[in-house]
Amino acid sequence: MPYLPVAHPPQAEVLASAERRWRALVEAKPDLQAAVSLQRGLLTLVIELARTIDGGRLPKLSLPGKYLAAKLSRGVPVLSGEPIPLPAALLKPALLRFCDELAAGGAGEVATHIGAAIESGRVDAGSLLSSSLARDQEAIRTGATHLGLAPDLAWLIAELAVGPVAHTLQRTLFATPESPALRDALAAWNHGYCPACGGWPALAEIVGGHRFLRCAFCSATWERTIYACVYCDEQGEAFVTAAPDEKRTDQRTELCSSCGAYLKTVDAAEVSPFPLVAIADMETMDLDVAAMEHHYGRPPLKEFKTGSRL
Ligand SMILES: [Zn+2]
Ligand SMILES: [Zn+2]
Repeated sequence: MPYLPVAHPPQAEVLASAERRWRALVEAKPDLQAAVSLQRGLLTLVIELARTIDGGRLPKLSLPGKYLAAKLSRGVPVLSGEPIPLPAALLKPALLRFCDELAAGGAGEVATHIGAAIESGRVDAGSLLSSSLARDQEAIRTGATHLGLAPDLAWLIAELAVGPVAHTLQRTLFATPESPALRDALAAWNHGYCPACGGWPALAEIVGGHRFLRCAFCSATWERTIYACVYCDEQGEAFVTAAPDEKRTDQRTELCSSCGAYLKTVDAAEVSPFPLVAIADMETMDLDVAAMEHHYGRPPLKEFKTGSRL
C-alpha cells in the first residue's frame, strides 16, 4: 500500500514529542542550540496555525475522486495546477509572525524587510501564498528579487504559512478516500515525488523495514515498491546506501551517481507527525554535510506546470 495515512495526534502531544526531540538534539550537539531555538519558535507557530486551520472551514474543493485518480495515474500530483483559494485573512498575519520570529532568530533585517513588504502590500500576500501552494519557486524568487528581498527567505516564510493548509488538504483528500478509483490510484503511486504536492521527500523514515518517503511540505507519506533513487529511478550499481558515521548506522544516505543526488534515510520507531519531519531533517544535518562534501546535491522541485506570478 504505497500511500500511508499518518496519525494526527492532538497539538499538545505533537509539541511534547517535538520538545523531547529538541532536548535530545541539543544534548547531543550543543552547537545546534541557536538553530533549535529558532526551529522551536517557528514550529510552535506552525502547530498553532495548523490547529486553527483544522478547526476552521477550508474552501470547498470541487475535486472529484475520479478526476484526482486520473491525475495520479498520469503521474501528476493532485494539488498541481489546481486554483485552490487560501484563507489569506488568516495566513497574512501568520506570514508576519514568521518574519518576526526569523528576524529575532538571526535573520535580522533580511526578514524584517520581507515582513514590511508584506504588511505594506508591496508583496501581495495572496499571490505569495498561492505561488507557494503551487510550489512555484520561480515566481516567488523572481518577485522577491525584483523587490530587493531575499528570495530563499521569502520562499521559506511562505512555505511555513501554507504548509498547514497543504497538510490539511493532503489529509482531507487522501486519508480516507471515498472514491474507489482514488484509493486504487493512491495504492498504485510508485513515484519518488509527493502524490499531493509534487515535492521531493525531505528524507525517508525506515519503520519496521518499510522505507517511508516523507514530504516536508504537506507531510504525505508513501512507500515505493522498488528500491531505487527517488529522483531518477536508478536501481543498478550507481545507486548505493551508506552510513557516513559508523557509530550512527541508524542514519544513512542513499547516493546516486547517475543523477548526482542523495536522500537521507533514518531508522525511526514511528513516522513523524506533521510538522516534525522538519526536526528529523535537523537531526540528520550531518548527513547533508557529508553528502555535499562528496559533491552530491538535491535536485530542484519537479515542474508540472507554469504557475502565477507575484
Ligand atoms: Zn507533499
Ligand atoms: Zn538518481
